[in-house]
Amino acid sequence: MKTILMTFAVVLGSVCLVSFRAASAEIEPTRLFVQNNRPVAQMAFNQVDLSLTFDVQKQQTHGYAWIDFTAHAAGNPFLLMKAPVDSIKLDGESVSFESVTVAKDTAPLIIWRELEPETRHTLVIEYHLDSDTVGYSGGGVQFLTAMGDLQWGNFFEDFGPTSYEDDHYGMTLELVVEGSTKTHRLFTNGTETSNCGSRWTVNFSDRSNSSTFFVHLTSKTMRVRRGTYHGLDRDIPWVIYSTSRLMTWMGARRIEKHLSELERDYGPYFHPAFVALISGQGGMEYPGAAITSIGALDHEALHSWFGRGVMPSDGRSGWLDEAVAAWRDNGYPRGTWPPNRAATNLATFSEFERFTPRNCYSDGSKLMSELDGYFGSHGEATGMKPVLAKWFSLKKGQSVTTEEFRDYLELVSGENLHSVFSRYVYGNSSLRDSVVVGQLERGHPPKLTKAEVRELR
Ligand SMILES: [Zn+2]
Repeated sequence: MKTILMTFAVVLGSVCLVSFRAASAEIEPTRLFVQNNRPVAQMAFNQVDLSLTFDVQKQQTHGYAWIDFTAHAAGNPFLLMKAPVDSIKLDGESVSFESVTVAKDTAPLIIWRELEPETRHTLVIEYHLDSDTVGYSGGGVQFLTAMGDLQWGNFFEDFGPTSYEDDHYGMTLELVVEGSTKTHRLFTNGTETSNCGSRWTVNFSDRSNSSTFFVHLTSKTMRVRRGTYHGLDRDIPWVIYSTSRLMTWMGARRIEKHLSELERDYGPYFHPAFVALISGQGGMEYPGAAITSIGALDHEALHSWFGRGVMPSDGRSGWLDEAVAAWRDNGYPRGTWPPNRAATNLATFSEFERFTPRNCYSDGSKLMSELDGYFGSHGEATGMKPVLAKWFSLKKGQSVTTEEFRDYLELVSGENLHSVFSRYVYGNSSLRDSVVVGQLERGHPPKLTKAEVRELR
């Protein structure tokens, strides 16, 4: 049965936002808003075939994206795309388009063509990338899908068309380098299916979403170490690399210890391999990959379980994985139950926001330690770690909401936890704005600056 529930409505400037969430897990989430008195509806991606051509002589990058999507609701469809668009065709016909800001750093691209509900379509987008996303120094290409998931972050929309994190789809990526005699190397968490030196094809599974795609194509000399971690279920190939021989060596020495510890606590590693670009500073997690400092390698590896194994649906559930990671960073302290502290807001945001509030580290890890105290003295579990391990085994490969997590904890405990979540997860909604951007607590490294990404790629 197809039913929808209205859960949230705000007015932002001239844009009236009304977001809906499917009551049934079988229905794709559809965000809706009204722009210029016309209905606008999130499209659901099925498959993307993306080609990026790097012309080294002209120092120009051309993108060509073919998208198979379903319009679940009636209206003009929207997707997420920040790279400059040259033209769009919907079902073979040219259409007009417009970007509209609906949340912090989120400006959906509206395709102006009203579609019937539950209909399937194709979209072709031609676009280009600028010097913020592609470098052409030394007669070669430097391209790195550097992302960030905290406030003012970015996912794949800087590099190509994508959707919200709760929209999962497959992607075939073709990378073509023209007019260069340099040797290029590709590092990715996708499956490389062909490589002829100047043309690569990479497949990403249909579990992928906007935060999945780690792609680093570079003519720079990289120091690379490879190995195989003998995991609980199977062998996991790993690649650690950077421009520094020392940092590569340090990362290679540590990675198997981290994977072993995390498998012991949370169960078998989920991804086909692990690849990490050691950045020296800053970073980001990807499923089976990371851009990371040496000091945060363990933190980013944990995100292959929580964050990119079990994935957040949007900015209202992103706190969950940082809470687990920060609780581990802090040495898994056990807190007292029930909590007795100021109310905090981790999840009361618009459904259009995609990024995680910064208090997820402090307030989120406190809640994890308090839940550890609770599950250490209630029921059959011996603390929060086995509860999280079970959660991972149930939800890996899926996007989850805060409400699903709360319901799961209630199922395990047999008790109602709504009042705790009301105060410590959905609490004081003014707190988000009091957090100073740029301040960072221990754990997750800050998002790389544009200058740092240029240096790194
Ligand atoms: Zn993190």
